[in-house]
Amino acid sequence: MADPKGFLTTPREEWPRRPVGERVRDWDEVYVPGALLPVVSRQADRCMDCGVPFCHQACPLGNLIPEWNDLVSREDWRAAAERLHATNNFPEFTGRLCPAPCEAGCVLAINQPAVTIKNVECAIADRAWEEGFAPPAPPEQLSGRTVAVIGSGPTGLAAAQQLTRAGHTVAVYERDDRIGGLMRYGIPEFKMEKRHLERRIEQMRAEGTKFRTSTTVGRDVDAAELRSRYDAVVIATGATAWRELAVPGRELAGIHQAMEYLPLANRVCEGDLESSPLSAAGRDVVIVGGGDTGADCLGTAVREGAASVTQLDIYGRPGDERDEEADPWPTYPKLYRMSAAHEEARALRMGPAADAGGDGDVRVFAASTLRFSGDGEGRVCALRLVEVDAGRRAVAGTERTLPADLVLLALGFSGPDPGDGLVAQLGVELEGRGTVARDGGFGTNVRGVFAAGDAARGQSLIVWAIAEGRAVAAAVDRYLAGGVSRLPVPIEPDDRPMRV
Ligand SMILES: Cc1cc2nc3c(=O)[nH]c(=O)nc-3n(C[C@H](O)[C@H](O)[C@H](O)COP(=O)(O)OP(=O)(O)OC[C@H]3O[C@@H](n4cnc5c(N)ncnc54)[C@H](O)[C@@H]3O)c2cc1C
Ligand code: SF4
Repeated sequence: MADPKGFLTTPREEWPRRPVGERVRDWDEVYVPGALLPVVSRQADRCMDCGVPFCHQACPLGNLIPEWNDLVSREDWRAAAERLHATNNFPEFTGRLCPAPCEAGCVLAINQPAVTIKNVECAIADRAWEEGFAPPAPPEQLSGRTVAVIGSGPTGLAAAQQLTRAGHTVAVYERDDRIGGLMRYGIPEFKMEKRHLERRIEQMRAEGTKFRTSTTVGRDVDAAELRSRYDAVVIATGATAWRELAVPGRELAGIHQAMEYLPLANRVCEGDLESSPLSAAGRDVVIVGGGDTGADCLGTAVREGAASVTQLDIYGRPGDERDEEADPWPTYPKLYRMSAAHEEARALRMGPAADAGGDGDVRVFAASTLRFSGDGEGRVCALRLVEVDAGRRAVAGTERTLPADLVLLALGFSGPDPGDGLVAQLGVELEGRGTVARDGGFGTNVRGVFAAGDAARGQSLIVWAIAEGRAVAAAVDRYLAGGVSRLPVPIEPDDRPMRV
């Protein structure tokens, strides 16, 4: 702790976002470029280096937060990068995308704004790239053992990097044409520019990891045959089976799932398409679902030039302050949060909800969709909703209609995509909700086949995916090495977040 009074003298300050009017005209990250480092050095001084670092426990990766806060406040960026990479393969991803349960668990947050841990993490990661503190780390010796990782999201990438560095020969199989999983075609560019992904993939290639894109295991490659060719297989295929909204009118044209819509916008950014066939330009957009996927649809629709946008959330509006009864410190509290996308839509007063609500927020809380209406030519033109109470019972007299000629469903995911033959060909067992069943060592019922990430845990977060990837790598390494591994094990399969 370079400045023992830092938390008394320095107020919390976050990485500033660019003005709304500027950032909605492009797809670049919402933050002011170059503004992070000057802010962060002072912010790291706010860490109290308290005796029991709850932040460290709240982070699924067990990031050594007080240690790197201290190193940053002493301007020792090289050592900070070394400590950060000791627990996190991809801190530039979590530094941009993590909801930061660590900050909810910060001891300072008991009666003051938390340390900006996520910003410090991002600054260390970016600085490490700029200064070359994170060069490729190929293994000194090869083990002669081979591993196939199926899926190239954060789980598969973390597992592959750990196993490659441990000396195994690793091939990552990916059904998409590019590597990255949901970070590639789900999460929009304005939340994380894909150049961060490219840089890591290049690092991994230089370390020796092989990538096989446009290859669906279970269709293009037989999964049982893959198992026989490799010493071990890791299933890291994610949980992309989306939830449906079974209400009258669902069959109308113009109603799409978020993960039908977002990949097309991402492909425009990649230069694959001139414009998105599902573009929101000039449309009245209604997003059904109040979570982060819905917010990503919102930011995308705003940038595409929607005429209006409304986001419906079945849950009531959360409070502005932590509810000490329901969500006591250090758990991650339910709060009314304003993401960058919400801020943009509010500033631009993008929708009917903004006009009705007064504060400009385009979200309608406690709203349930009753039905969609068509324009006579089979295209959606309106959505009928009703307000609901905490028990989801309709509140009499609250029905109303919103104009809607593009509806995006962002209702979450139920489990792995059942559409390919991988599960049957390997003979792995599933849990009731469709996730891959595994034991306490990340192993499935088939010897040498392991499962990790959203495919086994269910829909989760990038920080959990990286932790799962690191943990499954240790399990595979132990299996291949006959019981011993030097790879770290950040989590057990049954560990659960503190309600993130
Ligand atoms: C729109 C959206 C936004 C999100 N935003 C955030 C966020 O801001 N912060 C956050 O922490 N989390 C976020 N999440 C959640 C996060 O992206 C996931 O929890 C995480 O990506 C899961 O990682 P994974 O590697 O397990 O799976 P995935 O990222 O889903 O990767 C699985 C990969 O496996 C591939 N695959 C599937 N089947 C096969 C097969 N048979 N053969 C070959 N390849 C196959 C898929 O194509 C995919 O590339 C978001 C999710 C969505 C949908
Ligand atoms: S990965 Fe997430 S929880 Fe862990 S230190 Fe970074 S922001 Fe906090």
